[in-house]
Amino acid sequence: MTTVRGPLPRPDYADLSPYSPDRRPVKVDLSDNTNLWGTHPEALATIRCAGDDALARYPALYADELKASIAARHSVSVGQVTTGCGSDDVLDSLWRALAEDGGSVRFAAPTFSMVEPLSHMNGRVAQPVAWSEALAEPERLFDGGPTLVYICRPNNPTGFLAPREWVDRVLALAKTDGPVLLFDEAYADFAGESLIPVVADHPRAMVVRTLSKAYGLAGLRVGYGVGHTDLVAEVEKSRGPYKVSRLAEAAACAALDDVSGWVDATVAECIRNRTRLLAALDARNARPLPSAANFVLLPVAPGTAVETAHALRRLEVAVRPFPDCPDVGDAVRVTVGPWPLMERFLAAWDTR
Ligand SMILES: *Cc1c(COP(=O)(O)O)cnc(C)c1O
Repeated sequence: MTTVRGPLPRPDYADLSPYSPDRRPVKVDLSDNTNLWGTHPEALATIRCAGDDALARYPALYADELKASIAARHSVSVGQVTTGCGSDDVLDSLWRALAEDGGSVRFAAPTFSMVEPLSHMNGRVAQPVAWSEALAEPERLFDGGPTLVYICRPNNPTGFLAPREWVDRVLALAKTDGPVLLFDEAYADFAGESLIPVVADHPRAMVVRTLSKAYGLAGLRVGYGVGHTDLVAEVEKSRGPYKVSRLAEAAACAALDDVSGWVDATVAECIRNRTRLLAALDARNARPLPSAANFVLLPVAPGTAVETAHALRRLEVAVRPFPDCPDVGDAVRVTVGPWPLMERFLAAWDTR
């Protein structure tokens, strides 16, 4: 067999690598911010009752039923909603549709770890601005004429909820020919507030959400974006057809209806446990950051994030290490779950 070698088609892909967090099995996994109370019961029931059609036939081209459920939940029109195979996919479509080829994407850092690779994969240049600087001077997010500005609210991994007054200042800086502002609300259910009512009629802003976290459906892969119809129409072009499977669409609609109130109940318990966990860490003289999400960021001694995560893993508890974060330094991120799991974490923390 002959091997054909030659220059790679995209030299800019040479230093990209596949996403590879440590996913080895562990007894207590507090590393990925999924819903540790399990999955949505009505979504699961819908999948169990699925008929042959669910697999044999293609799904709806652009997930119209799902869009209708999302539109109803947020009181927007169907034309203001786009969907995808997880919100990572929605972000990918957005990057292609709204960020110019070769253009820059500015974002408040530290933030969601996919922002840099997503930019790189799509031929855009990612430019971090430390949160402290972006908060003091929102204009910094617009330096150099980016085509996209990304803000995660509440922010992953810090749990920080950027104040509404600051968001209003950022929105006021958006010009008709300026960048599109993207607010990632993967954790908004735990913050109890959303920018959807604000962006729905804003010509240059969108909100992206996921069913992977509060809704307990990470394995199903469903995410969505809400914004002005003109922006959404562009994103739908880059999204392409058949992105949400039939099973995923039906289960997601059932979860969004949330007839049993499962989402509200687990979110409420998560918020109570977050307060308890922060207090328990304070009592140990650890200095966790306040959080509006379903996780807590815990700074550790400089240079010890990875080592701390390894030590906890040896005790069967997985957390996500964040070495050398802007504004924070080394830290580990701990997902908040049912209290017995938090006790397991605290015991491991004490003996590590
Ligand atoms: C988890 C997460 C996502 C990805 O969600 P999926 O819908 O599972 O792709 C998006 N944004 C942030 C900030 C996240 O933490």
